[in-house]
Amino acid sequence: MSIDCKDKVVLITGAAKGIGAAACRALAEAGAKVAVSDIDAAAGRELCEALRSRGADAEFFALDVCDEQQWQSCLEMVVASYGRIDGVVNNAGIAVICGPEDESLDGWRRTQRINSDAVFLGSRAAIQAMKSQGGSIVNVSSIEGIVGDPMLPAYNASKGAVRALTKSLALYCADRQYGIRVNSLHPGYVETPLVSGALAQLPDDDAAAFASRVVASIPLGRMAQPEEIASGIVFLLSDASRYMTGSELVMDGGYTAR
Ligand code: NAD
Repeated sequence: MSIDCKDKVVLITGAAKGIGAAACRALAEAGAKVAVSDIDAAAGRELCEALRSRGADAEFFALDVCDEQQWQSCLEMVVASYGRIDGVVNNAGIAVICGPEDESLDGWRRTQRINSDAVFLGSRAAIQAMKSQGGSIVNVSSIEGIVGDPMLPAYNASKGAVRALTKSLALYCADRQYGIRVNSLHPGYVETPLVSGALAQLPDDDAAAFASRVVASIPLGRMAQPEEIASGIVFLLSDASRYMTGSELVMDGGYTAR
């Protein structure tokens, strides 16, 4: 079966850059109507223009995923624009490289708020918006939600929470026969502004050591390109994955196989 999302209306968070932007492009190619959302309105609008110039049906919605009220109004606006919503991708996230002895409580909480609390807010809003007609929720976790890294304690905890939350939501939606599937996606290291930004916060020697340790741990010998992860998002939103719920889709070049 080819992967087709024709006429599905999909909202993606953190869509202005990296994996989210690649997912918007891939979804547009698969025929979806793409609700592009991000806290960075300028970059989000720019991406929308680029998608539309290639014939895609795309609209920008400003959304800070940590803001409960904004979630409510954003989904109402998407439904007002398109008449329905078939998929929500909770993709927005941050990463800060910081060992447990140096991590502050504020830093820890910021990571949990954006990477984990916001996935609860987005999933809750998505279930409420889609339960009468069904749909698909894709929660972007990470390999760091499955295994640990000594320098990513806050990130590990936030992504592990997304992995477990996803299974709870999948069971809840199945129990109530909402027709909503909920799955988590676990990318390995991907060349995006998130990775380059996290490395840029470290002294040059530490950044180089972190990057070479990571690449040496990837059996395929390189980081992924965002497009190589976007295909997993399209799959999980499409009917090609209709028998999957509560699952973990790992796309990591073999990182977690060791
Ligand atoms: P990125 O930094 O390239 O893009 C993230 C986007 O999220 C940005 O456009 C940013 O403006 C937006 N954003 C940040 N805070 C936000 C907020 N509060 N509300 C709305 N938008 C917000 O990141 P990426 O690498 O594309 O990562 C996307 C997702 O994939 C994240 O959840 C990340 O944890 C996960 N992930 C990334 C990698 C990787 O190696 N890049 C690996 C595994 C998982």
